[in-house]
Amino acid sequence: MDCLFCKIIDGSIPARKLYEDDQVLAFHDIGPQAPVHFLVIPKRHIATLHELSEADRPLAGHILYTAQRLAAEQGCAEGFRVVMNCNDLGGQTVHHIHMHVLGQRQMNWPPG
Ligand code: AMP
Ligand code: ZN
Repeated sequence: MDCLFCKIIDGSIPARKLYEDDQVLAFHDIGPQAPVHFLVIPKRHIATLHELSEADRPLAGHILYTAQRLAAEQGCAEGFRVVMNCNDLGGQTVHHIHMHVLGQRQMNWPPG
């Protein structure tokens, strides 16, 4: 399968890793949109949030908890933003689900 994030997981494409366990990987975004910008992804390929199943609920929680814990470690105790883009209309460009974590600047609303 030709998936950029699966290649980061298998090590064939390098990334600046922040955290890894048996279920998830976190690494710095290559095009940061804030002083802190990293991604949390499941190690199993799930193309979009549409493909998330009921059995994936613990995994989804683990992704969110990992995002929160790493955000604190990265100096975002005052606040941060998480974003998950779903499919083309949602602005998703890499079709392996990922949670963006952005911090250390003022966020605005609504997003673009
Ligand atoms: P999205 O547009 O929500 O699918 O987000 C994809 C994100 O992946 C973008 O913020 C990209 O900057 C980021 N990205 C693309 N290629 C890489 C890479 N090789 N390493 C780290 N982040 C990447
Ligand atoms: Zn993948």
